[in-house]
Amino acid sequence: MTMSLFPKPTEMAHAWLKKVLVLGDQVIDATLGNGYDALFLAQCVGPEGRVHGFDVQEAALVASTQQMLRHGIVDEVYDWHLASHDKMEDYVDSPVKAVMFNLGYLPGADHAVMTSAVTTLAALEAAARLIVPGGLMTIVCYPGHAGGDREAEAVQSWASQQGQEWHVVHYAKRATKQAAPELIALQKKEVSR
Ligand code: SAH
Repeated sequence: MTMSLFPKPTEMAHAWLKKVLVLGDQVIDATLGNGYDALFLAQCVGPEGRVHGFDVQEAALVASTQQMLRHGIVDEVYDWHLASHDKMEDYVDSPVKAVMFNLGYLPGADHAVMTSAVTTLAALEAAARLIVPGGLMTIVCYPGHAGGDREAEAVQSWASQQGQEWHVVHYAKRATKQAAPELIALQKKEVSR
């Protein structure tokens, strides 16, 4: 399948992650949801890699496990945590190559359970500490959803302050009516000698 020139933010995140991930990497999905991103990550890192996944809803963990089973991903590869992503360092104590965020609510579940600016920012800080030089953080925000606008603004303003240690990119379609989803991606700079 040929990729469109301007793919959706979620697809663009995958394309960039594919460029940095290699077999055996350790990575984090900070918002498991239905497990699509976690499956993608598991396929990138292979049987020797590891995907840590976080969500505050049991239903998301269950859906993500089913996703793995359907695609024959062995359970040594993934490790789910029923915990808020701002606590990720309590569960992951070694460096990771990438951390993915897909903010907002779980499609098809209770829309009242959604990510929110304060914990999201704390999670971004934690992710920034865990990622190795050359590694990637991707954040898909939904400014068109109620509550998502303030969160997207907070993420953008946080990202714009990280320029010293990170390459920071903002990818979004120009909105016509409703604000479009957007992707913010940060690659940690390699340390120059
Ligand atoms: N909006 C996206 C899907 C996002 S799913 C889309 O349409 O594709 C976002 C997931 O984040 C949900 O499953 C939700 O339960 C989870 N979540 C909410 N707050 C969280 C937190 N503090 N830590 C980890 N996950 C959280």
